Amino acid sequence: MHHSVHQAPEMPHMHSPSVQEQQIDSALVAGVLAGQRRALAKTITLIESTRSDHRQRADAVLEHLMPHAGQSIRVGISGAPGVGKSTFIEALGMDLIGMGHRVAVLAIDPSSSLTGGSILGDKTRMELLSQRMEAFIRPSPARGALGGVAQQTREAMLVCEAAGFDVIIIETVGVGQSEIAAAGMTDVFVVLQLPNAGDDLQAIKKGILELADMVVYNKADIDARAADLACGQMRSALHMLRPVSKHWSVPVLQTSALSRTGIKAVWDAVLAHQAKMREVGEFDAKRQRQALSWMWALVEQGLKAQFQANAAVAQTLNATLERVANGSLSPTTAASYLLGCLQKSKTD
Ligand code: GDP
Repeated sequence: MHHSVHQAPEMPHMHSPSVQEQQIDSALVAGVLAGQRRALAKTITLIESTRSDHRQRADAVLEHLMPHAGQSIRVGISGAPGVGKSTFIEALGMDLIGMGHRVAVLAIDPSSSLTGGSILGDKTRMELLSQRMEAFIRPSPARGALGGVAQQTREAMLVCEAAGFDVIIIETVGVGQSEIAAAGMTDVFVVLQLPNAGDDLQAIKKGILELADMVVYNKADIDARAADLACGQMRSALHMLRPVSKHWSVPVLQTSALSRTGIKAVWDAVLAHQAKMREVGEFDAKRQRQALSWMWALVEQGLKAQFQANAAVAQTLNATLERVANGSLSPTTAASYLLGCLQKSKTD
């Protein structure tokens, strides 16, 4: 096809992929399905792009990959910095490869979206695992708010599944919102703890324990007695929380990621959890719930973007905000007035 050079540039939202882009994208799809790492990495880069034409191409690629996604165990792993997440994931990952699995490790690092720095992202982590063909490790997408980061991670997970990775580990760091995002896209959520009371209190306060399908005390090698004590206290604390599922009582386990002990017991617990959830029908129900709430989150995001981009709203917004701030207009009236502006400009 021949394009005139004088053609006006297309508006970003009207972009339709060129023939060349379409060829690149079908090669990406084929490459991902063949398990090629380059295609996998490139597809995730496309997903993480902020350009709207890239977004459209990413959507098309994802649409083709979706039928091949979903066939993995999705494991969320959370814990404060220094608890031993990367050491643990490396040990678990190497064990899983030994069992014939292919393991993808993705991260949700809220610090990178807040400060541009990152807690999880540095390259020296998981040195053994990162050299293995059976593993794929991707740091957290850095751009944008947590919502965007979570969406990109979720999509990257689907791409990894389509590429044949059958265990997906979503790693996150113990600061609340990112835990909720990680738990919201995984089948089983593992909380790593240190054997000291301060860590327990933090997890309880931040509501992380309420998301936990299992709690693992790492660094149990340092002080076995402290680890036993912490486990006992955690078991009683968990009794006071509402269970995530009435069919599952949260195991409290001990590991030493450094000396690689207790790792298999954690994996066995993951498998037991999955078997139980499948047996009682909660496995599929949870995935359906997750897919639906993801869709609603995107709908809300889209509506908000429409609202913010709307000319009629923009015209009156500042004045309205001021009147709400100085008390001359109630928030309720103001909200329905603004929504009315949006509505009216659409039907005009
Ligand atoms: P992350 O920040 O949660 O990813 O923690 P790292 O995996 O980077 O571990 C932080 C430090 O703790 C490193 O120096 C590890 O070698 C050490 N570490 C990790 N797991 C263990 C463990 O089970 N026992 C001991 N003694 N040290 C550990």
